[in-house]
Amino acid sequence: MDVVVIGAGLSGLTAAARLAQAGVNVVVLEADTDIGGRIRAIRAPISGQAIGDLGPTWVWPKYQPVAARWLKTLGIRTFEQFNTGNAVITGYGPQTTYQPLPGQDGMVRIVGGPTALIEALAQRLGPGSIRANALVTKLCPTGSQQVSIGLDTGEEIVADKVIMALPLRVAATTLDLPWASPNLLNAMQDTPTWMSTHAKAVALYERPFWRDVGLSGRVASAAGPLVEVHDHTAADMHPAALFGFVGWRADKRQAAPEQLRQEILTQLAQSFGPQAGSPRDLVIQDWATNPRIVSPLDLSQPLSHPVVRPSILRQTHLDGRVYFAVSEVSERSPGLIEGALAIGEAVALAVLKDHPTDHG
Ligand SMILES: Cc1cc2nc3c(=O)[nH]c(=O)nc-3n(C[C@H](O)[C@H](O)[C@H](O)COP(=O)(O)OP(=O)(O)OC[C@H]3O[C@@H](n4cnc5c(N)ncnc54)[C@H](O)[C@@H]3O)c2cc1C
Repeated sequence: MDVVVIGAGLSGLTAAARLAQAGVNVVVLEADTDIGGRIRAIRAPISGQAIGDLGPTWVWPKYQPVAARWLKTLGIRTFEQFNTGNAVITGYGPQTTYQPLPGQDGMVRIVGGPTALIEALAQRLGPGSIRANALVTKLCPTGSQQVSIGLDTGEEIVADKVIMALPLRVAATTLDLPWASPNLLNAMQDTPTWMSTHAKAVALYERPFWRDVGLSGRVASAAGPLVEVHDHTAADMHPAALFGFVGWRADKRQAAPEQLRQEILTQLAQSFGPQAGSPRDLVIQDWATNPRIVSPLDLSQPLSHPVVRPSILRQTHLDGRVYFAVSEVSERSPGLIEGALAIGEAVALAVLKDHPTDHG
């Protein structure tokens, strides 16, 4: 059995790794140059080591059994989110106030960041199993009960099964899916891609100097541009870092990127002292500029927290040849890392179950 996975994010790689483990011939097609999808890291210039998360940061293994199990299986450790000391609270009253803010129960960071999951899963796939820069544009049935996957280059790949592990709105609006029913297309279009309209800023420093003066690295700000800041220092303390979510709307961010950068530096300096205004590096990742993650529909609607989506998205399509496996489809923690691992694994097991004679 030949399986093609569209999208090398966490869901797609989890599905592919699980299928490869069962001996299935699996190829992952990824439109981007890099794998990981919404999981992306700042890399150290020489070692290439992941030193800051530009996508997700946290998991809750205490409450997320699938993430807990995969972290253990892949030999990846977690560590506490630093949250000792006062947070800086601005814009909610006439004066800045300093007080501790509670952390979330069970919320931890991953040593090496969520990228460690991507790297470990990719390693479980054979050489040549992941093709980057492979933009899928079309999925059509063939006469021989297979699926033809068309790329933007005109290349066609034929597979027995296809796992669509890409954001559903992106799939519904950028892929030619002539077999998809109006009900299915509506369910896809109705599914926002979690955090796809967000931007994150990561500032790197030599030392976590804010800790010296009793600050936790947290900011809660009604003024912005960062509405929320957290300590993002690596597990081995190299580098020290702060990260924040940008409160500006996507159109404002994109119209004035240099102004955004300057205002973030000013805000960091006001919150943590002049040193914070001169980081070793400041990286701003705007997910709303990535058309493989965000869709115009996401940008035109208010952000809503992920909910369990209709069951049509968890059914097979095209006579059992097409499955969906992006995080938002999961019944468990949709939109989150837990959801991506859960749906990737569930779909791989469903593929294997549908073909028990092939792979036991
Ligand atoms: C800023 C941010 C913060 C977050 N914080 C957290 C957090 O702290 N904790 C948490 O649990 N979750 C968090 N999330 C959510 C988490 O990142 C996602 O749930 C998870 O990464 C989704 O993985 P996925 O594989 O399902 O989808 P994606 O990562 O979206 O992967 C889809 C892949 O499909 C590819 N693709 C798209 N179109 C095509 C095409 N036509 N052909 C081929 N490939 C295509 C894309 O390039 C991408 O690689 C955050 C997300 C963001 C953006």
